[in-house]
Amino acid sequence: RAQNSAYEHTQFYTRSFNQEISARHVLANQLRQAIQRDELVLHYQPQVSLKNGKITGFEALVRWRHPERGLLPPAEFIPLAEESETILALGEWVLRAACRQCKQWQDQGLPPVMIAVNLSAMQFNEKNLRVLVGHVLEESRLDAHHLELELTESVSMDDPEKSIAIMVHLRKLGVTLSIDDFGTGYSNLGYLKRFPVGRLKIDKSFVRDLVDDPHDLAICRSVIALAKSLRLEVIAEGVETINQLKLLHAEGCDKIQGYYFSAAMSAEECTSFLARDVSLPLDTIRRLPYAR
Ligand code: C2E
Ligand code: MG
Ligand code: MG
Ligand code: MG
Repeated sequence: RAQNSAYEHTQFYTRSFNQEISARHVLANQLRQAIQRDELVLHYQPQVSLKNGKITGFEALVRWRHPERGLLPPAEFIPLAEESETILALGEWVLRAACRQCKQWQDQGLPPVMIAVNLSAMQFNEKNLRVLVGHVLEESRLDAHHLELELTESVSMDDPEKSIAIMVHLRKLGVTLSIDDFGTGYSNLGYLKRFPVGRLKIDKSFVRDLVDDPHDLAICRSVIALAKSLRLEVIAEGVETINQLKLLHAEGCDKIQGYYFSAAMSAEECTSFLARDVSLPLDTIRRLPYAR
């Protein structure tokens, strides 16, 4: 009997394992078509200066309006897209949509903002990336100074010499490069010095317990100091509370991005934020007591 149930268990396991594989297969196929069917949508999260409280840019974050499953976050489909060349088509769509939106805000006479776009490893290493970026900037008529491309350490440190060449090539277009999720990879500081990047983004895992965990505070403080000495701009991700904000401000962090100010939102909501000049009331925040 025991043997029997073990056997049944194996059968069950095998069946559910196969089901999972075929479900992923279905999703991968649907994703390939989602781009043509216009099911992808960009949400934008504001990035705010701690010097004057103003919105200086937005990070474009992709979502998938799945016909049956509703709005899917990138964690549910980006890894899948990265298993095939679907990520190239997806990345191209994101770049195009983001540049077009940024230009549209400018054409509406709204305060100028930058647009940040995430790049996957395969995109970064694709030899036509520079041509594509140049092309998209031209067709959207967006000035390159308004576009920022985010790379992770795992992408840029994988083959640093090759990455430097690609980055230098991209920089010639006039775009800004930044290192996303900084501190979660294995940065070689000798290479970081040579990367033509303009900013570091402190990963949200260090910001989460910043106020209570002295180790996280030490890490944030060090990354800010490192950025300053390399003359890079530094932005903290995942800022959710006023105490995190006050601390980062006191430590000299340049900018923040996080739910405290705003989560990612639709283009229309961003338009309204810009039109109303929604900003961080830094003077009021500075006067608020620091409460744990
Ligand atoms: P990321 O580039 O590090 O983006 C920041 C993520 O943190 C976003 O999640 C954002 O919604 C979330 N976030 C922002 N503020 C807070 C906060 O205060 N608290 C917390 N807990 N989270 C916050 P999202 O939109 O789910 O994106 C997740 C990841 O998916 C991104 O991480 C990025 O790596 C990837 N991704 C998103 N869009 C694209 C894309 O167009 N292309 C590529 N290749 N990857 C993308
Ligand atoms: Mg990012
Ligand atoms: Mg990040
Ligand atoms: Mg990330």
